[in-house]
Amino acid sequence: MVIMTVNCSNCHQGANCRLPQCSCTSYSSPLPVKDTPQIIFYGFDDALNGQMAQHYRKLFSSDRKNPNDCPISMSLYVQHDYTDYSLVREFYKKGMEIGVHSVTHTNIDTEAKLADEAEHQKSNLAQLGSVPKEEIIGWRSPNLETAGDTQPMTLKKLGYTYDISLTYTVRKRHEKKPWPYTMDYGYPYYCEIPPCPKPTSGQKGFWEVPIIAFLDYKGAYPCAYVDGCSNSPTTEEDAFEFLWENFEDNYETRTPLGFSMHAAWFERPHNLAAMDRFIKEMTKKDDVYIVSVQKMLEWMKHPTKLSELYKLKAWGCKSASIDQQS
Ligand SMILES: [Zn+2]
Repeated sequence: MVIMTVNCSNCHQGANCRLPQCSCTSYSSPLPVKDTPQIIFYGFDDALNGQMAQHYRKLFSSDRKNPNDCPISMSLYVQHDYTDYSLVREFYKKGMEIGVHSVTHTNIDTEAKLADEAEHQKSNLAQLGSVPKEEIIGWRSPNLETAGDTQPMTLKKLGYTYDISLTYTVRKRHEKKPWPYTMDYGYPYYCEIPPCPKPTSGQKGFWEVPIIAFLDYKGAYPCAYVDGCSNSPTTEEDAFEFLWENFEDNYETRTPLGFSMHAAWFERPHNLAAMDRFIKEMTKKDDVYIVSVQKMLEWMKHPTKLSELYKLKAWGCKSASIDQQS
């Protein structure tokens, strides 16, 4: 199978595309590797209920800190059906990002359905979950079926600033991987789950966070979702190895490492134990930051050297997670 890795040739960073509003597609860090923090982000999907909450409380407890001494954070893409909104309030207050994953969890593959469910689920999270509307800025499509070319425009109109629904597959270690980018100059990558936005239709300042495939623990097959690998680990050792090898692969280039997944993966105790150990190991490193997708994008808008991260307001312990200036 051919993977298209063309870069959008019309986009020239620093010339016709300038931070923080515009970021061209790229396979490398905007800073030298040695100055780039290794960002790790988690995006969990579906209903937020008591069973899932137990896992999140354990893995993302507030005593787990990044090198800047602020607690680690993650993103929850929440659907309406079967969600307990008291838990939305709890995790929002703990500093987690609350994003949107539709009302009904059906395929949201037309502009009309997207406009309807993206608006209503944002309202539900605001009214029932007490999350300020302006902080609900991220969308993930159920089953990763998008509304194609109309998706960025429709989301932008509703006050969303990013989408995290388009997949990018790698098939072996050390392959180059795309960084998050804005859609100013369209979508240049191979469309894995049609329809996708067109390469020619831009949407100014709207971010796309690619879901980059992991390789399974045998290094054999790619999987967009951590819990969707065909070779699934059966022991804690294999599960840890799986997480660690994917980390090491990204660490060479500091490409942000994204865990797109369902907390159901943790229902198997060896997976939960492995992730617990993995996060513990990561929080010992002085160049690794576990942050929400929203916070990762603040870094993308303001690339900040490791040694100066204390100046990045959006990563501070209590600051608003959205940079008001950009
Ligand atoms: Zn889902």
